[in-house]
Amino acid sequence: MILLDGKKVSSLIKDEIAREVVKMKGSGLKVPHLAAMIAGSDGASETYVAHKGKACDQVGFKSTLVRLEEDVPEKVLFDKIDEINENTDIDGLIVQLPLPSHISEKKVVERIRVEKDVDGFHPVNVGRLLIDQPCYISATPNGIIELIKRYNIETSGKHCVILGRSNIVGKPMAMLMARKGNPGNATVTICHSRTGDIEAVCRQADILIVAMGKAEFVTAGMVKENAVVIDVGITRVESDKTKSGWKLLGDVKYDEVAPKCSYITPVPGGVGPMTIVSLLNNTLKAAKKEIYR
Ligand code: NAP
Repeated sequence: MILLDGKKVSSLIKDEIAREVVKMKGSGLKVPHLAAMIAGSDGASETYVAHKGKACDQVGFKSTLVRLEEDVPEKVLFDKIDEINENTDIDGLIVQLPLPSHISEKKVVERIRVEKDVDGFHPVNVGRLLIDQPCYISATPNGIIELIKRYNIETSGKHCVILGRSNIVGKPMAMLMARKGNPGNATVTICHSRTGDIEAVCRQADILIVAMGKAEFVTAGMVKENAVVIDVGITRVESDKTKSGWKLLGDVKYDEVAPKCSYITPVPGGVGPMTIVSLLNNTLKAAKKEIYR
């Protein structure tokens, strides 16, 4: 079994990005600049935003954090987005989800200018992914593709089963695995809460990608010998063994599944760090105007 070490790979990619930033500065270009917006004080969201800010520092990007109150009126948040849309120094904008319930996620996603949508959630970016046109690709599925690439995992002709059909992970993941290309060219099955006999479908998978948010859902009996297992899930559970009083669990029962796999991601240290470097890569592309002029 080979561990898909997202922490190690992401650190290599950060070095590559940092070198690129030095080059940009050397040629008199401005450094990439990512803005993040957070509304309210959800613990997990705070952690994610802090990680993204730290990653920007590590590669030499400029970063701006816009902090809004939990009860911020929708109009104020939209005005803030418009302001960033107009700010020529800022290349990319992410609005940390979930948002307070009185704010429409759909409207927020559509308000961000498509050229600055480095999360790849805007309908135009999602649509362009579907028809194989240059676009910002949602960071988590793109990070998984990068991990597969770096470990030279064969995907062509394989059966890839994806558990979860969210707009930000499951659906774009399916598009990327099924598209013509390498990685890609897989035969893809998407499962969700209405799938019948999900265990049997999972057992057919050469590559199993799990993005459900159900801690330790996938057990050894659901996995074929030598399968590649990629665990996106993150659930915080209480723990008396850690200083913080909590730990993270994936959607896969790692200890019993890992011995059956050819490759597997750990949680933490697998998909999470790859998601962050994907976001950095999208921001770099935005700064270089590689996708939209
Ligand atoms: P989501 O929007 O909640 O979607 C979950 C999906 O799982 C849905 O499609 C749902 O089916 C399906 N599902 C839930 N329970 C199921 C069951 N018992 N059987 C079959 N399918 C079931 O989640 P998400 O945003 O994709 O995130 C999934 C997980 O990944 C979460 O733990 C999240 O924290 C984590 N995540 C991690 C990263 C990272 O960087 N590591 C990034 C993003 C998300 P229905 O559609 O039928 O409801």
